[in-house]
Amino acid sequence: MKQNNDMKLLDGKNVIITGASRGIGMGIARVFAEHGANVAFTYSSSEAPALELEKELTSKGVKAKAYKSNAASFADSEKLVAQVLEDFGGIDVLINNAGITKDNLLIRMREEDFDAVIEINLKSVFNMTKAVQRTMLKQRKGSIINMSSVVGVKGNAGQTNYAASKAGIIGFTKSVALELGSRNIRCNAIAPGFIETEMTDKLDEKTVEEWRQAVPLKRGGSPEDVANACLFLASDLSDYITGQVLNVDGGMLT
Ligand code: NAP
Repeated sequence: MKQNNDMKLLDGKNVIITGASRGIGMGIARVFAEHGANVAFTYSSSEAPALELEKELTSKGVKAKAYKSNAASFADSEKLVAQVLEDFGGIDVLINNAGITKDNLLIRMREEDFDAVIEINLKSVFNMTKAVQRTMLKQRKGSIINMSSVVGVKGNAGQTNYAASKAGIIGFTKSVALELGSRNIRCNAIAPGFIETEMTDKLDEKTVEEWRQAVPLKRGGSPEDVANACLFLASDLSDYITGQVLNVDGGMLT
């Protein structure tokens, strides 16, 4: 859907997005830049598309920079936030989007696949939120948006690691909202349903069709569908909303 950019909802805001070299993160970066945000974003290995995106966003007249940073590393996250503060001069919005899957039935799931998913999907949210906290406390304003999943709400066979990480994000989000609300820092989660990206490209066609049929709107979502929800939660339009989980799932959890 074409954006109506007459009203720029994030004009001059500085935003960090983890994992924006493709998929949902890239969609968020594009929509945010259209709305006037300066975008600092990370990738883990996809350098070429990240640098392409940096160029594309900059051409829209905002400041944009790609950083190689492992969201699972506490040290990397601290270093990243310090560098972004130096480069951008402030942080108004944090989007914890980076995530992976390593699916298997519990009986076949290896310990390292459980640990990797928890560290990249859940510990990363702790790392980055902690790293931006001081800045947001000082300015007495901030919006943090964490990417959960419908799977974190209802579970999914073959995804015990992923479901645990995404359910953990919801508990973390609600706790941060309670801790930091008095300082005007909001923290919300988004629970996307079936969004068509490289992550879902890994699934076989039969599974994809089953997912589509399970959606009341009878289609998979796009990165832009999720980005528009993030835009609302990042902007002042949602100033009185915190501790919530917004389902962006075509009605899947209804
Ligand atoms: P994707 O296409 O696989 O993209 C994942 C992004 O995360 C990439 O930019 C990747 O960077 C980055 N990343 C992976 N590991 C990282 C690390 N250790 N440090 C920093 N960045 C890292 O995934 P997606 O479908 O856009 O999903 C984005 C988020 O939405 C994830 O948290 C996912 O769990 C969640 N979600 C997705 C769906 C869906 O249906 N697609 C549904 C619900 C929730 P590189 O390119 O460099 O690897």
